[in-house]
Amino acid sequence: MAAVKSVAKPTMECETEHFLAAQRQLDEIAEEMCLDRELHERLRYPKRALIVTVPVRMDDGSVKTFTGYRVHHDVTLGPAKGGIRFHPEVNLGEVSGLAMLMTWKCALMGLPYGGAKGGIRCEPWNLSAGENERLTRRYTSEIINLIGPDKDIPAPDMYTNEQTMAWIMDTYSINVGHTVPSVVTGKPVSIGGSFGRTEATGRGVAYCARRAVAHLGMTKESPTVAIQGFGNVGSVTAKLLHQAGYKIVAVSDVHGGIHNPNGLDIPRLLAYISEMGKVEGFAGSSAVSNKELLELPCDVLIPAALGGQITDANAKKLQCQIVVEGANGPTTPEADMILHERGIMVVPDILANAGGVTVSYFEWVQGMMHLFWSEEEVNQRLEQIMGRACDQVFELSTKSKLRTRLAALRIGVSRIAEAKRLRGLYP
Ligand code: GLU
Repeated sequence: MAAVKSVAKPTMECETEHFLAAQRQLDEIAEEMCLDRELHERLRYPKRALIVTVPVRMDDGSVKTFTGYRVHHDVTLGPAKGGIRFHPEVNLGEVSGLAMLMTWKCALMGLPYGGAKGGIRCEPWNLSAGENERLTRRYTSEIINLIGPDKDIPAPDMYTNEQTMAWIMDTYSINVGHTVPSVVTGKPVSIGGSFGRTEATGRGVAYCARRAVAHLGMTKESPTVAIQGFGNVGSVTAKLLHQAGYKIVAVSDVHGGIHNPNGLDIPRLLAYISEMGKVEGFAGSSAVSNKELLELPCDVLIPAALGGQITDANAKKLQCQIVVEGANGPTTPEADMILHERGIMVVPDILANAGGVTVSYFEWVQGMMHLFWSEEEVNQRLEQIMGRACDQVFELSTKSKLRTRLAALRIGVSRIAEAKRLRGLYP
C-alpha cells in the first residue's frame, strides 16, 4: 500500500508547530520507504497523553498551580522511555513531538523501549530548592499511574537532574509501599544509579563527532569545534573532545558565549565556571552571542542547548563541515535541507545525543539484575552501541543517498513498523 503524503485536517490537540515538524519528518521517511499506509497513520500520533495541574505551596505561603505533561508516543517494543523537562516553553505539542523522537531514538539504538517525554511548564531558575522538590513530588503523584519500571521510566532532560530523579523515585516508592529504584534512570549512584550516566550524553556526542570526522576523512590533527550550550551535555562534550586533541574555539551558555580561534583551555574554563557560574569574562577570549557562535568558522559545530537554533535564516551562513546535534531538534526541517544541499554533514539528534538513553538502559538493566558494572564497562558498552548505530546510519546514508537524518529515522521507523506488523492490531 502506498504511503500517505499528508493527512488533511488537524485531529489532535498536540498539533503545534513543533509537533507537526516531528510528524512531517515521519511523513517524509514513510513516503521514501513506502511504509504501509495504516502503520504510518498509527505512528503519526501519541498513544496516550496526560495533562495534569500541579498545585505547589510556594515559600511565601501562597499556592501556585503549574501545568505538567507525560506523553507516550509508542510502546510496541517495551516500556515507554524518555526525559522530563522543566521549562517555560513546555506544552503538549512540544512534549508529544519529543516523545515521538524518543521512539525513533530507542529503536535506532536497538533498545527495548518505546518513546515518552514529560515536562512541567515553569521557570526552574526562579524556584527555590524546596519549591522545586514539592513541584517534582506532586507532579510525580499526578502521573503515578503512567509510570513504573515495566510501564514508563522517566529520566533527566532540560533543567532536571539526578536530584529530580531521586525525588521521583522516593515519591513513587512511598506510594507503592516499597523501594523501586528502576522507576527512573539518571539517579545518583548511591541509590541505584549507573556509573557513567551523568556523562553519557556528552560522551556519545563527542564519540559521534570523532566518528563523523573520520567518516569525512579529515586529516587535520586538531579539528576545531564550537559548542552552543554548556550544560551537562555541552561541558562534557568539550572536556572529552579537548582530551582527544580537538581545539574548542567557542562555547556559550544562556548568558552568552566566548571565542578564541587558537582554542580555549577547557580544564581552566571548567574551573572558572564552577567559580563564576558562567563562561562570560574568561581570560583570553572575546565575547560572542549565542547566535554569532553558530556562524563562526570551525570544523565541527555542536548545538547542545535549545531546539530550533539552526533555521532557514542562518543555515546558509554556517561555516562548519559537520553539525553534531547534542540538543533535541536544534535544526529546523528547512535548515536541514539547506545544510544537505551545502554538503554539510549532520549527525542527527536521535543518533548524536542517544548516549544518554543508552546508559539509562544500562542503569535499568543493572537495577533489574541487582548487579552493577564498573565505569569502564559502561563506557565500553556505550561505545559499542554508538559505534554500531553510527556505522548503520552512515552506511545507509551513503548507499541510498539519503540525508543522514532520514537514514537514522528510516532505521528506527522500520524497526517499529516491523514489530507492529508482527504483533498485529488488537482486537
Ligand atoms: N532526556 C534524554 C533524551 O532526550 C534521556 C532520556 C532517557 O535517558 O530516558 O534522550
